[in-house]
Amino acid sequence: MELLRSKLLKNINGSLPGSALALKPGVAERVSFEQATVLANIMRMIVLVGVNTAIFLGGDFVSRPSVTSPYTHIALAVIACIFACYFVIFNACTKWLKDPAHHQNASQFIKSILVIMGILCTFWGVLIVDLTLAAGPRQLSLIYGVIVACLAMPALVAPVSVAFTAWAPIAVFGLVSLLIRRDLPSDPFAIISFIGFLGMTGFAIIYLNRRLTERALDTVRIEENSEVIRLLLRDFEESASDWLWETDADLELQRVSPRLSQVAQKSPGELAGRFPEIFLGDMATFDQRVGSPVAKLTRYLADRSAFRDLVVPVVIGGEERNWSLTGKPILDKAGRFIGYHGVGSDVTAARRSQEQIAFLARHDSLTRLPNRVLFNEVLHQSCSHSEEHPIALLCLDLDNFKMVNDSLGHATGDAVLVAVGERIRGCIRDGDTAARLGGDEFAIILATDDVEEVAVVARRVVERISRPYHFDGRLVEIGISIGITLAPKDSKTPAGSLKNADLALYRAKSDGRGTWRFYDSEMDERLQDRRSLQADLREALLNGEFKLDFQPIIELSTGKMVAAEALLRWHHPTRGLLSPALFVPLAEEAGLIAPIGAWVLRQACMAAAKWPSHIGIAVNLSPMQFRDIGLVAAVDEVLAASGLAASRLELEITETTVLETNSQTVDALWQLHGRGVRVALDDFGTGYSSLSYLRRFPFDKIKIDRSFIRDLGHEKDDSSIILAIIGLAGSMNMLVTAEGVETMEQASLLTGYGCPQAQGYLFCRPVPESDIPTIMTRLHQTSQVSFPTTLQ
Ligand code: C2E
Ligand code: MG
Ligand code: MG
Repeated sequence: MELLRSKLLKNINGSLPGSALALKPGVAERVSFEQATVLANIMRMIVLVGVNTAIFLGGDFVSRPSVTSPYTHIALAVIACIFACYFVIFNACTKWLKDPAHHQNASQFIKSILVIMGILCTFWGVLIVDLTLAAGPRQLSLIYGVIVACLAMPALVAPVSVAFTAWAPIAVFGLVSLLIRRDLPSDPFAIISFIGFLGMTGFAIIYLNRRLTERALDTVRIEENSEVIRLLLRDFEESASDWLWETDADLELQRVSPRLSQVAQKSPGELAGRFPEIFLGDMATFDQRVGSPVAKLTRYLADRSAFRDLVVPVVIGGEERNWSLTGKPILDKAGRFIGYHGVGSDVTAARRSQEQIAFLARHDSLTRLPNRVLFNEVLHQSCSHSEEHPIALLCLDLDNFKMVNDSLGHATGDAVLVAVGERIRGCIRDGDTAARLGGDEFAIILATDDVEEVAVVARRVVERISRPYHFDGRLVEIGISIGITLAPKDSKTPAGSLKNADLALYRAKSDGRGTWRFYDSEMDERLQDRRSLQADLREALLNGEFKLDFQPIIELSTGKMVAAEALLRWHHPTRGLLSPALFVPLAEEAGLIAPIGAWVLRQACMAAAKWPSHIGIAVNLSPMQFRDIGLVAAVDEVLAASGLAASRLELEITETTVLETNSQTVDALWQLHGRGVRVALDDFGTGYSSLSYLRRFPFDKIKIDRSFIRDLGHEKDDSSIILAIIGLAGSMNMLVTAEGVETMEQASLLTGYGCPQAQGYLFCRPVPESDIPTIMTRLHQTSQVSFPTTLQ
């Protein structure tokens, strides 16, 4: 359609190349037709003038007594022949002009005129010579006048063949008539001027004929062009979605086509009025600001200038639509404006889908909030103007969103995100921006750097997000952590602000989640510190800076050591002994935990292989190691190398690991479980434990986190929870180990609750491998002498 439209406009502009038409078949015939028509019209005039001249000339001679009779008779006979020729010519021309049936053969008509003209002019030549011989001096002038007229006449005739057929006999006989009367004193000059006249008339014939032919060609071209345009217009109106429009000098709409009336949903009568108001309706309802489409259109029309593909809003049947308008001013020959011509098309659908695409490219399809792309643009802009308009950037992260997704399904997860998006939107003002950056990450740009104000918003967000959600009768609770930075105070650049907000978010998360933190420069120092530690971690394994300590796990009923947990230690060359709670997350972040974890597993199994066969070994696994698809093979290999029975190995995984695993890692655990390796759920109670995990994973043991044990015996302790866990584990055939047992009171209470195992400083701190035999012996003795009695 676009092709057709451009073709049409090209044609309206008159740019269709003429040469293309000249090559078209039938053009020669059309030109011949034009020439034949011109010829027929002129010939009839020539006939009238010629008949008159012949009568006048013949009459003059006949009436003179001096004219000798033979010349007179010849003259009369020739004049009779001339009349006959004129008669034939007049008839043929009249027939041609009146009867279109002849029109098929224009060249035939021209040929016949050519022949008769040749004969006619030969007769004229003979008449001239005949009369010259008999003429007196006065009559001679008359004859020369006739010769001149007869030579000039063919210049009016086309085509050139006919003109020269008429011109040549007169030229020849005219010269003869000059030469045979050499008695005149002015003869030489008469001959010279006659030859000059011959040249001039010959040139005039050629020149005028060429111009005549060109004009005939032009006429054909114009007709052809009009035909093409007519066809295109018809096709355009009938099949296209576009339409044509036209106005007069007062911009009143003219010649409303059925297509236009259909598109405008108005009858042609209703469309009588000024353009563009007739379509747009009340102009006051449109955006008329400089640069708006309606303002542009008004400007173009006022300037009487052309416009192309200008998309303007129109109201059709009460619905706002978009029309693309192209218009071209039409000027008359004097250059006066006489109206507009143009095409229009309804681009509403295309525009809507364009807007939709543009919206989706810059918005999150789920929450309809700006996405990362749009957020980055806004942040860039806000940062570049932050000196004049300071801002606060808040990075938000939902706490344990993965658990919602895993336990309640993705549909509920999506519903939570939508609801969170709405609640965040409800916490900010118009000038602020809230965006979803992806997953469970959101961000807010506030148009203020007032710490109090920002804190109020952060508090509001945390409070509203953590209100319960209800989906399909289910209750969902979720928390949010927020990191805040101010621009330009903390940083002027978008990258710097994002990094700062991220650091603050990291702090908010590690400070217990469900809270917000403002960035401070000390966070940067911590980051530097973490980075340098990570760099050192890369060397630590090679440099042999790691070692393992072992902490005994006691059977509460006997007080005997039944296993030991391998706990990693890093002897940093300058910082001394570092806690795994500090460097394990760093190793995970740096992707170094896999080789370190493999080292731990090997060392632990090697050590345990030297202990009595009833003593097990517990090894902590990080989530990263679980993602390693070679875990099963690695365990097999270590067991084979150390000679440790699979049943003596216990792998401890935390709730976080459980949250982050996928079905592939669950399979790996089941495979290991199938080999006899035991699996323990570590730090139970610190995460968002869901009982569904207990069924999905092949747990043999639950390790109750020490935070539950700490308050045992105090007021408001967690005894009921501990009792429930022990009861549940018993019913599912799982063991329970209480972690962090530090006092006798805790140990005795746990024993009373029926907790099978315990681990803690009360029994033994983590010790080097070399101390284990002594410890085993000591514990054995303690259990026989004092411990059981204490407990009973
Ligand atoms: P975890 O697996 O829960 O290990 C028990 C932690 O509690 C150990 O801390 C231990 O020293 C401490 N603990 C034991 N009894 C008591 C007590 O009575 N009171 C108190 N306050 N603490 C006690 P540690 O060695 O600092 O290890 C911290 C955590 O680091 C471990 O918690 C474990 O999650 C992780 N970890 C240790 N070694 C490894 C390892 O080789 N690989 C992985 N992935 N993580 C490890
Ligand atoms: Mg552990
Ligand atoms: Mg633990």
